[in-house]
Amino acid sequence: MQIIRDQVYAFSKDNKPVAVAKPGEILQFVTKDCFSNRITDESITMASLDYGYDGANPAAGPVYVEGAQPGDVLIVDIYDIEVADEGTVATDDHCGPLFEGTPYRSKKVPVKDGMAEFNGVKFPIDPMIGVIGTAPSGEPVIDGYVGAHGGNMDNHLITKGTRLYFPVRVKGALLQMGDVHAAMGDGELCGTGIEIPAHITVKVGLLKDFELHWPVLETFGAEGRWYVNASGQEYNEAVMNGAKEMQRLLMRITGWDATDTYMYMSLQSDVQISQGCKPCEVQLSLRIGTPKLPQFGPLVG
Ligand code: CA
Ligand code: ZN
Repeated sequence: MQIIRDQVYAFSKDNKPVAVAKPGEILQFVTKDCFSNRITDESITMASLDYGYDGANPAAGPVYVEGAQPGDVLIVDIYDIEVADEGTVATDDHCGPLFEGTPYRSKKVPVKDGMAEFNGVKFPIDPMIGVIGTAPSGEPVIDGYVGAHGGNMDNHLITKGTRLYFPVRVKGALLQMGDVHAAMGDGELCGTGIEIPAHITVKVGLLKDFELHWPVLETFGAEGRWYVNASGQEYNEAVMNGAKEMQRLLMRITGWDATDTYMYMSLQSDVQISQGCKPCEVQLSLRIGTPKLPQFGPLVG
């Protein structure tokens, strides 16, 4: 199995691939936490980090997937996310609704036997991938930002056992990922989850010639759903982007017209905030989830 250890700080068509994978291949990405593992103890806060464009949200990769061409879809099956035995939650001075008056603080959060412990309160971890995506065709996008390529979606449903579909916009797709959280609530209120180094094992696959505008997450089991991940500067823009894509994808498989599909979405689809630690400049990340419709086949495919 190829192990991916090199780190990059932006999604870019100019990033040099660090590995070449064949569709169907299983790979492991060794990821640092979003601080590049620099908060080694609680005396180090985000105030003392240069949490700018270099050093923030490193992602392992990128991996060039053989045969991937613009207009295809890259499939990523998350096989496993193994986290370290300690993570970090931290505040900074411009992120989240309560940033005014909140000091910088870093807290170490031990993780043991699948449980995290915060101020003596124990709760189960649910490791998720914060940053994952493919390279955009245009300007580079730093890893801390979210967009139509994926990136910092911070969708806590991106866990072991789920499947992602990404638009391929450059030759080889250039897959990269990082920013694992041992746990994070929807919205990521203070701007960080339990930020933690990890080993992520995935299988890559390829779907040729399929029009996809935003990343889609598929979950399995009784509660299995399809989620379109979308973003925008504010809620209105983000929800319009996501709803348009869900409507387009559902119309394709059901054969319903736009209005019927819109009505159906109003009955069965949920809009959920993935990450909205405004007022920082990062776009609002949300997802629109809808129950699968097995009678009509796959949403993407
Ligand atoms: Ca993040
Ligand atoms: Zn993070």
